[in-house]
Amino acid sequence: VGRLQLRGLTKEFGNGPEKVTAVDAIDLDIEPGEFITLLGPSGCGKTTTLRMIAGFEDPSGGEVVLDGRNMIDIPPNKRPMAMVFQSYALFPHLKVRDNVGYGLKLRRLPATQLNEEVDLALESMNLQQYANRAPNQLSGGQQQRVALARAMVMKPKVLLFDEPLSNLDAKLREQMRLEIRRLQRHLGITSVYVTHDQSEAMSMSDRIVVMNKGQVEQAAPPETIYRHPASVFVADFIGRANFLDVRVISHDGDGRATVEVLGQRVQVPAHPDAASAKDVVLLVRPESLRLVSVGSHGAGDLDGHEGRVVTSVFFGDTVEYEVETEHGKMAAVVADPNVADIHPEGADV
Ligand code: ADP
Ligand code: MG
Repeated sequence: VGRLQLRGLTKEFGNGPEKVTAVDAIDLDIEPGEFITLLGPSGCGKTTTLRMIAGFEDPSGGEVVLDGRNMIDIPPNKRPMAMVFQSYALFPHLKVRDNVGYGLKLRRLPATQLNEEVDLALESMNLQQYANRAPNQLSGGQQQRVALARAMVMKPKVLLFDEPLSNLDAKLREQMRLEIRRLQRHLGITSVYVTHDQSEAMSMSDRIVVMNKGQVEQAAPPETIYRHPASVFVADFIGRANFLDVRVISHDGDGRATVEVLGQRVQVPAHPDAASAKDVVLLVRPESLRLVSVGSHGAGDLDGHEGRVVTSVFFGDTVEYEVETEHGKMAAVVADPNVADIHPEGADV
């Protein structure tokens, strides 16, 4: 099936004062067929976690359990897993079809069956017409498709991806996201995908695991991560965030609180910890702010706060503003083209 469990998984590098805890007692239950993304800044331990799952790295502690079986003493090539790398890692001297068939050949699959499986894998990645080329006769995107076909053809229980799209240009990257996800859903293979790109994580994952300094900050579906981040770190790392200092007036203990912010009392969704925490901040996403020109029709009816637009950046579908207010700089994203004529000068927030 492909139920993957990490229990207290830990990796330390070096000794004494040089010791680095790259992965710090991670616990994670990954459901069969689930697409999980490990997301976090460079150096937070994503690759090390993935390499321990694959068996390329021996843990300092903890367990990797697949369908109830501890993998720790099983060498990487005996684990029912396949990995796709950022660098593609194709054999340069082998034709595309021999790259894809390499693992099956090691398994001593009969030639006719091997050819059938390879053809199916090439077809699923739209690579039939490149079957007899060498990897260096392909574009980066095509090479990564070959690497994907080579992983899939092994019918692993777990697919592991380490930033597989980082070498591709933006347009292709977005296309490949969808393609990987479509194929993964179709095959139903449990997948662990490493990236530092939050939009990649948001668009592909059943669940995102946000990592920081070797630990899990939050593991939840993309929408929960975005709307109900468990920490300031998560809120700041996912999307863009404005933080306002607030005073908690009351907290119903059930996910809502009344707070005082900018001289007003408002009801907001609240993290459970916010009831007892000493310092509390309110997260305001840039797209939740509305900009209205000072003095424009209707602005006088608003209970707004004045600010000054210091920068505006036009993205076509949205315009991003930086607004200087008495509470500090705030980011605002506006999708309505009718307000795109607000330029650096002055606007209500
Ligand atoms: P990420 O993939 O999230 O960028 P890594 O898992 O590669 O992070 O690295 C996590 C931490 O472990 C970093 O501080 C890195 O320097 C350290 N590290 C990784 N591999 C080694 C190694 N072979 N020897 C020593 N330190 C390492
Ligand atoms: Mg890495």
